[in-house]
Amino acid sequence: MNISIIGSGYVGLVTGACFAELGNKVICADNDNKKIALLKKGTIPIYEPGLEELLAKNIKKKRLKFTFNIKEAVSDSKVIFIAVGTPSLENGEADLTGIENVARNIAINMTQYRLIVEKSTVPVETGEWVKRTIQICIRSKVKFDVASNPEFLREGQAINDFMHPDRIVIGVESKKAKELIVSLYKPLNAPLVITDIKSAELIKHASNSFLATKISFINAVSHICDKVGADIREVAFGMGLDKRIGQAFLDAGLGYGGSCFPKDLDAFIKISEKLGYSFELLKAAKEINRQQQASFLNKTKDALWIIKDKTIGILGLSFKPNTDDIRNAPSIDIIKALQEEGANIRAYDPSAMPKAKEVLDKVIFCKDPYDACRGSECLLIITEWDEFKELDFLKVKKLLKRPLIIDGRNIYEPGDLEKLGFTYISVGRRKHG
Ligand code: NAD
Repeated sequence: MNISIIGSGYVGLVTGACFAELGNKVICADNDNKKIALLKKGTIPIYEPGLEELLAKNIKKKRLKFTFNIKEAVSDSKVIFIAVGTPSLENGEADLTGIENVARNIAINMTQYRLIVEKSTVPVETGEWVKRTIQICIRSKVKFDVASNPEFLREGQAINDFMHPDRIVIGVESKKAKELIVSLYKPLNAPLVITDIKSAELIKHASNSFLATKISFINAVSHICDKVGADIREVAFGMGLDKRIGQAFLDAGLGYGGSCFPKDLDAFIKISEKLGYSFELLKAAKEINRQQQASFLNKTKDALWIIKDKTIGILGLSFKPNTDDIRNAPSIDIIKALQEEGANIRAYDPSAMPKAKEVLDKVIFCKDPYDACRGSECLLIITEWDEFKELDFLKVKKLLKRPLIIDGRNIYEPGDLEKLGFTYISVGRRKHG
């Protein structure tokens, strides 16, 4: 099938590359001409494992191309996915400017039937607005359908998630739209949830909000563990063995970040409010998440006493491992808060340093984890990259001014580090010494 993806970011590029890999002819469009110019030259503007190879392979096979011209994308494709960003406005609502913009652009360039699919995460009833916008802007009596097909991929394992999804959610209003999307996804052989557009939109917001709430729940329990000397890892394991609960998303730590959970939670709270419901549970989940960072900073201050003029080593800048994405990454706020108190920062991340350099000042970006330890008063673990799990701790101890590790992701065993002479501060783990 000829399809196009408008919005060539994390979701758009992965969706485009994967649909091309499944044998479709795909055009990825974007209004950022620098991004399109890079992509045309074969340079990928983001880091996502396996994506570069998949894009290169499908470009070579002439199943994938890029354009700045939305008209080209619309005229050549029967199915058009909208995958533009839907960031938060200052008041927490989703900014749907990009969605409206694309809907208008599609409408004015449509000369025959098109299926327009929302892939971006949007508040419930956005589909109605997209339909209305297209109806208003359309130039002739061309038929079209709107559908919702929210994306559930996770950065860092996006290709695998796209190719092997737990489920594919499809919100449609016509048989034709249903048949088109179902045929596109048929090769994946995944469970399909076929529903109406509003329910599909809600499945996405409700899923992300539920997962964020699960993280906040275990983080809240970690405070009780800290107070009584219990171990959050063992508590979470014991809880997770119950099939109704499950082990996933029960890792206590610095809380959720990234470009999705914080904004989707905010947008869900806001749309609920607009519809006359005050979603107190989500407000509490959000507040607990905020407190996780505050509590981590307090632990750091308690351990160091005076922050001013002290050098602090930081491992991990991306909001989670295996990505270079720093949107809403805890690292940024933590570094800025420490700098405000006068700390000098030495930081290392395997892939997020180029992006972090754009938003952080006066940070010494280091060549490896050991370089971040050199001369630092303590080491803070902010992102749980595998690389940090296997450090040579004798070397770390020699390089640090004092053997102090404050671990925001619970990646080490307290007993092991204590045996090596470290003071190890975690999130709700039992001390051994
Ligand atoms: P992104 O910022 O990486 O990419 C969005 C792209 O859209 C950018 O390249 C931008 O230039 C382009 N764009 C914006 N307005 C445009 C317009 N008017 N015309 C053409 N292009 C335009 O964002 P992303 O992370 O890919 O997320 C896209 C959507 O998918 C969001 O709604 C997000 O919530 C959702 N989502 C993201 C993830 C994720 O892990 N990143 C997972 C599931 C769903």
